[in-house]
Amino acid sequence: MKICNISELNEIDKNVIEYMQRKTHEKVVFCSDNESQLKAIIAIHNTNLGPALGGTRMWNYESISEATMDVLRLSRGMTYKASITGLNLGGGKAVIIGNSKNKTPEMMKSFGKFVESLNGKYITAEDVGMTTDDMEMIHKETNHVVGKPIKLGGSGDPSPFTALGVLMGMKASAFYKWGSESLVGKKVLVQGVGNVGRNLIELLSKEKAIILVKDINKDKLIDISKKFNVKVIEDEFYKCDMDIYAPCALGGTLNDNSIPKLKCEIVAGGANNQLAKEYVHDNLLIKHNILYAPDFLINAGGLINVYSELKGYSKEKVIKKTETIFDTTLEIFKKADNEKISTQKAALKIAKNKIHKSYS
Ligand code: NAD
Repeated sequence: MKICNISELNEIDKNVIEYMQRKTHEKVVFCSDNESQLKAIIAIHNTNLGPALGGTRMWNYESISEATMDVLRLSRGMTYKASITGLNLGGGKAVIIGNSKNKTPEMMKSFGKFVESLNGKYITAEDVGMTTDDMEMIHKETNHVVGKPIKLGGSGDPSPFTALGVLMGMKASAFYKWGSESLVGKKVLVQGVGNVGRNLIELLSKEKAIILVKDINKDKLIDISKKFNVKVIEDEFYKCDMDIYAPCALGGTLNDNSIPKLKCEIVAGGANNQLAKEYVHDNLLIKHNILYAPDFLINAGGLINVYSELKGYSKEKVIKKTETIFDTTLEIFKKADNEKISTQKAALKIAKNKIHKSYS
């Protein structure tokens, strides 16, 4: 899976700062520590509504350009996710370059020191390749970390709440497309059976959906097949007959190649940056009559959970707030229809508006 497309990578190689200016990023910090072998990048997109909060992803990037592009795109998404969700947070994100199997406590602590050096302008949490135990290590060097284990007064793993929000967005999409929020008998393909995907599968089983799964990790597929009634897909995801496609792995799966072949009526999933090019592939989905629930809107449950850790944790309040994603998704769909724009543009319009209003 390519995280970014080549033309964007070339652009990053040419001029990172120009890209930052165009996408209005505030700051990017490149972190290196030879002793712990840490190579990381922290990107702060916008702190207008509050400190930049966003998880750290550990991934074996093929190049620094790819990692830079990923962190820039992810941090921008966090700004709009916090804004549309009504949280007093800005957008930031971090990436650690390397295979998460080679992670060490020293590396995590070293990363924690870099987070601390930003004096609270950036607050970290978990993302792909990171766990609550890693947050515990990072916490040894900085207080600017959430998603810590519950035993440390943290809010624990955010992914069950991310999955709940995705389910809300999916049910709202079903309601808008088919006139009923019921997912009974609907074929849902969950791509990526990691933290978010696994929790989503559990919720979809309760909804009596027909669940199809795809992952590059065979062990995870075996594990999920033992626990739930799922069908493993070997073929490319876009060749599969389904009603709903739920991307829950990495971004960029909605692109020139996949969209024309996609056999679904709805896309609603947890992965960040699902649209390879947001202002191209949003329209291509419309052309193919596929309703898209914007990722940064429906995958905000985890952010709501970690935000609550900053404010005094309440699981009940987190669930209540996460469930409002159903109504917000419907509002976005209506706005998109009324204004004849894509759902992605409608969601971005509201998010950007809130940020700009807070300037005045
Ligand atoms: P994870 O690392 O636990 O799971 C990702 C899964 O995707 C893994 O099982 C991996 O093997 C699989 N995968 C990777 N490449 C794949 C491919 N090409 N095809 C199929 N499967 C592939 O990560 P996660 O925490 O579940 O996050 C998943 C996505 O959701 C990411 O995009 C993340 O940024 C986003 N997200 C996560 C949260 C959260 O609470 N964890 C919150 C918001 C958004």
